[in-house]
Amino acid sequence: MIFSVLTLFPDMIRNAAGVSILGRALAESRFELDVVNIRDFAVNDYGKVDDQIYGGGTGMLLMAEPLYQAAKAQCAKYSEMPCHVIYLSPRGRKLDQQMVESLAGKSHVMLVCGHYEGVDERFLEATQAVEVSIGDYVLTGGELPALVLMDAVARRLPGVLPSADAFEDESHGAGLLAEPQYTRPAVWQERAVPPVLLSGHAAKIAAWRKARQIETTIRRRPDLDGLRRLSEEDWRAAFDVLSKETDDG
Ligand code: SAM
Repeated sequence: MIFSVLTLFPDMIRNAAGVSILGRALAESRFELDVVNIRDFAVNDYGKVDDQIYGGGTGMLLMAEPLYQAAKAQCAKYSEMPCHVIYLSPRGRKLDQQMVESLAGKSHVMLVCGHYEGVDERFLEATQAVEVSIGDYVLTGGELPALVLMDAVARRLPGVLPSADAFEDESHGAGLLAEPQYTRPAVWQERAVPPVLLSGHAAKIAAWRKARQIETTIRRRPDLDGLRRLSEEDWRAAFDVLSKETDDG
């Protein structure tokens, strides 16, 4: 899979994508990253890529032409694959795990990072860009949202996480939130790790984890659809674990 990123701040993308799990996945060619400086497609020799907003809006807007030429060049560069253009925008559909899964199946995703007051609408129309938001707040630029999206998608690509189970057990993996987790020492500041986790009994541990995932999801995110996918047996098993915990104090 290839990510093209159109940005005024290429180093911000390259630096952040070059570290940790994303950096290792890049080094192992689990995906490709092609960062394009929008200014390389400026409309004059002074690097002009923005202008004032028609109709008296305050601030500047990225012009359609430099963005369009940059996008066109990237689509032509990888012409053998369909190009899925995304404009990171607070007006867009909110990014969620379902969208992440769908993007992980694409071959070329182009992420367009806006700046100033955003981009000329005609660029979005001409490229049929899909607008994606990372939340109901406004950032200064699309670089952080692009990195968020890329990170979420990259970790769904084969070989990026150690095993598929690592994802299934995580928050949103199966539509539930993750259970509380603990590491050494077994007692810290007089707080003990739940004894079942030290028991070595695989089936009991699995039942406890599932029960606590269900409990955490009910308390924090009862809207998540993983709860509606649970079987009667799942509910009964969770009830058994949680009621026993309550009885044991
Ligand atoms: N004037 C725009 C509006 O009201 O919708 C906001 C422009 S914002 C200051 C500059 C750029 O940051 C946007 O073009 C977009 O690329 C990015 N951005 C800001 N907030 C975002 C969010 N919540 N999700 C995705 N991108 C965002």
